[in-house]
Amino acid sequence: MAAYTPTIGLEIHAELKTETKMFCGSRNDPLEERPNTHVCPICLGHPGTLPVVNRAAVTQVLRMGAAIGGTLADYTEFDRKNYFYPDLPKGYQISQLEYPLVKGGTLAGVQVTRIHLEEDTATSRHQGAVSLVDFNRAGVPLMELVTEPVIHDAKTASNFARELQLLLRTLGAGDANMERGEMRVEANISVSQDGTLGTKTEVKNLNSFRSVERAIEFEVARQIQVLESGGTLVQETRGFNEETGQTFSQRLKESSDGYRYFPDPDIPKFKLSLLAELSADSIRASLPELPEARRTRYASLGLKAADIEVFVSDTVYQEFFETEVLISYEPKLIQTGVNYLLTDVRGSGVTSAEIEKLRNGAFASLIGMIVKGELSSRGGKDVLEVLIKEGGQPTEIASRIGAIQDSSSDFITRIAEAVISSNTNPVSEYRSGKTDVLKFLVGQGMKESRGKVNPELLSKELQRQLDAAT
Ligand SMILES: [Zn+2]
Repeated sequence: MAAYTPTIGLEIHAELKTETKMFCGSRNDPLEERPNTHVCPICLGHPGTLPVVNRAAVTQVLRMGAAIGGTLADYTEFDRKNYFYPDLPKGYQISQLEYPLVKGGTLAGVQVTRIHLEEDTATSRHQGAVSLVDFNRAGVPLMELVTEPVIHDAKTASNFARELQLLLRTLGAGDANMERGEMRVEANISVSQDGTLGTKTEVKNLNSFRSVERAIEFEVARQIQVLESGGTLVQETRGFNEETGQTFSQRLKESSDGYRYFPDPDIPKFKLSLLAELSADSIRASLPELPEARRTRYASLGLKAADIEVFVSDTVYQEFFETEVLISYEPKLIQTGVNYLLTDVRGSGVTSAEIEKLRNGAFASLIGMIVKGELSSRGGKDVLEVLIKEGGQPTEIASRIGAIQDSSSDFITRIAEAVISSNTNPVSEYRSGKTDVLKFLVGQGMKESRGKVNPELLSKELQRQLDAAT
């Protein structure tokens, strides 16, 4: 029997970060905790009100489209998607059906069908027998991206969602925190043995990357099991229970005919090329460096893949790396700088206020001293610790706390002599051929000098003295 191939398409909603809502002047702040604070007759759905399209939201969707190499619309319009729900007082949601802002494009190797703009709904809160509706989120601009059904495993699906989140953040289009519902993933899943598309189910409300993977894995296995035991699948919407890791039936899927879409008569049609700043050329020219281009540039500097991902996704460290480390293209300085920055600064949970003390060349000067051998790696860490706490100049701190490495030959000769005379047993082991003890002797010298001796120079001097005496 032929194996089953899963086929997955994604529909991802992301709230856009704009000053005001999609069709009115109410503040766009869906995290506002006081219910019904940012509301007006338009987003409350009062009859007779007129929506006005938010230009910033349109711009952000077009920028997303340009970033994934999609075709930006010249002509666009908004439609009414009719359905009743307590969190949708108008009885319809303003969305886009025939003329989305973006068609096509590719992200993380996955082909995108379209990106369109719509409005978010209000939120219902259930308290015992009573349900309350909070309209702070009603009318918040919502981007919907739909992929082609070209994904065949759970990992690729979650990776696509991660890359979309990164792109939204890079473009400043949204925060896209999944746990806060700022980005919501739905997966259309089917399995088939013969290359055609099987009956699909839509799993909704996946609110973490982990849930995306678990829900897809469960649903694929469930569908195969139903088919294998002679059953038939129904096209339906399913939820995902994070506790049990299982999907469950919610309702039969509405076809788009059921929504009786029609163009919203209250919103003008747009020919975007007539608006200079919304033309495809202006939009493309406005894009910052995109994550993929940044990855390529960092790789060409010799950075490791894991380090590249940190600098691509963590904006604070990305900015610090660009302005405080990448001031020289000397590979040794970059490599040492990256190591200290990611391990000793980021890795030890340094706050953003503390990072400020490393700016204006302080961090670069510290790295310079380490690379030149003026500080041992222990000494470097000690100076860094003081620098993070108190600020100041690395050279001054190093001499104040006695961290400067002494490379003078007198000093090294003296330390080597002291080590040899006080370690008779290891010394005779070395002379009988167990040259591995050299490392131990170097360690003793580091202790003796309180970390001030350059270990490479000490190792050479120890060998010279030990070999000369035999
Ligand atoms: Zn409003």
